[in-house]
Amino acid sequence: YCSRSRTYHSLRPNSPIPPQSLPISLTDFLLSNLPTSNHPLPFLVDDSTGATLSYSDFLSLSDTLSLSLISRYPSLSKSHLAFLLSPNSLHLPLLYFSLLSLGVVLSPGSPLGSPSEIRHQLLLSRPSIAFATSSTSHKLPREMFPLGVVLIDSPEFASMLTRHHPPRPLLENVNGVVQSDTATVLYSSGTTGRVKGVVMSHRSMIAALSRFYNPSNAAVDTGKVVLLNLPMFHVYGMFMMFRAFAGGKTLVLWTEVKKFDVVGMLRVVERYKVNVLPASPPVVVAMLKVRREEREKLDLKSLMTVGSGGAPLGKEISTGFQEKFPRVTLLQGYALTESLLGAGMLSPDEATRQGSVGRLAEDMEAKVVDPSTGESLPPGLKGELWLRGPAIMTGYLGDDKATAETLGPDGWLKTGDLCYFDKDGFLYILDRLKELIKYKAYQVPPAELEQLLLSNPAITDAAVVPYPDEEAGEIPMAFVVRKPGSTITEHQVMDFIAEQVSPYKKIRRVSFVDSIPKTPSGKILRRELRERAVSGSASK
Ligand code: AMP
Repeated sequence: YCSRSRTYHSLRPNSPIPPQSLPISLTDFLLSNLPTSNHPLPFLVDDSTGATLSYSDFLSLSDTLSLSLISRYPSLSKSHLAFLLSPNSLHLPLLYFSLLSLGVVLSPGSPLGSPSEIRHQLLLSRPSIAFATSSTSHKLPREMFPLGVVLIDSPEFASMLTRHHPPRPLLENVNGVVQSDTATVLYSSGTTGRVKGVVMSHRSMIAALSRFYNPSNAAVDTGKVVLLNLPMFHVYGMFMMFRAFAGGKTLVLWTEVKKFDVVGMLRVVERYKVNVLPASPPVVVAMLKVRREEREKLDLKSLMTVGSGGAPLGKEISTGFQEKFPRVTLLQGYALTESLLGAGMLSPDEATRQGSVGRLAEDMEAKVVDPSTGESLPPGLKGELWLRGPAIMTGYLGDDKATAETLGPDGWLKTGDLCYFDKDGFLYILDRLKELIKYKAYQVPPAELEQLLLSNPAITDAAVVPYPDEEAGEIPMAFVVRKPGSTITEHQVMDFIAEQVSPYKKIRRVSFVDSIPKTPSGKILRRELRERAVSGSASK
């Protein structure tokens, strides 16, 4: 699996990806692979309302929605961009399918985003239209959407789903979508700087999803009922939704009301006899901490697999989890927004390899590159992970510089993650070389927080680094240089940031210092600060 040129190849058989020249959209691809029209299981269940949608209702509703959108917004056409701002609901998958079938680019933002974070995304992606809810629409400046903002929890939207159109066959690619057209723009800060728009073509999405039609992919068919707690605006949640569709599974949507309640989540597992729970490490940690008396009150026999991705999962946690839930297989996966789904993933027969994120996914190639020499390294040696394959992003929207820094001319994506492969081809992610902080698997770009800190008149310089935390994985910690004479306190710094950012981006630890260590060219020496933070030499 590692060639002489030190390129690592996937050991899994390639997936059946249609030829690039075939003029199809992602939805055409998914529909053409739908096994039967008479699906025995519902596709979607919303735990909060109890509403369910069968596969056939889902398809006819998304079709009706497409027709309504065409008649209401005749100018909405291929390559226009729709910004979505909504918590998970049955409406989101309907919109995803409907907009993709029209060739309209999907761009979902985090409903927890602050108005200024959302504005930054809108300036990048320049949408024509937005779909929001009554709880998120106040964050959207109307003047930025030429076709307006549609509330998906309004009677107006309900009428778009019920309106009767003249009978016609399923809306098939009316706008002539081809695979190279852009399908989604998701948001990620990549290896450095502020949030950027990650451009994915229909082709990349098709390539990523074709893995679930690969008969030799052992992970394809573990159970029929999947619980989705992950937000669909993130690549992980979005793909779990598409994956459920591809596998003819039932997706139960569960959105915690206020604070994450692990026992509440396990009750949903019990209620719907859930088989598969894709999760992030904090959810695995929370499951591990459920008291025995509570665990024994629950019937979790149906649960076969828990997936963990989005951030590192400590080996002690996975071992502890397997002891407490011996019937459940815990499978770690690794991906980036820029690489779409699972660059590496353990399959059930590899579950004993805890600590690894699995072998390279189908159609994926890798290199392990020494960051100081640029040399490609053989198994056993640590270096930066580079990835290449059909599911990799096209680039960052309107940002050639960031694209060139991240994507090599020969298609290699520099992940910014430190890794090694063992002699059997299992991948281990050791550390993050890039700036990114992950709070409960959510992205926190330090550059964004540093820019905000510097806008405070009491602060002359600042740097933000990850600080290890058992529950969240990492929390953002700020090193702050006060202006001479300023008496700004730790709490004032934290409050100043908290007012302007999503809750998961809050600064949760502050250390005042005399100066920020930098290279001669002015780059922050982040590693030095990280080491100072954990060694306790940073005063709190
Ligand atoms: P995102 O684009 O939000 O999915 O973040 C991708 C980043 O999350 C990766 O580049 C890694 O730094 C981190 N990540 C995701 N999955 C894992 C994992 N299983 N182990 C370690 N880090 C991970």
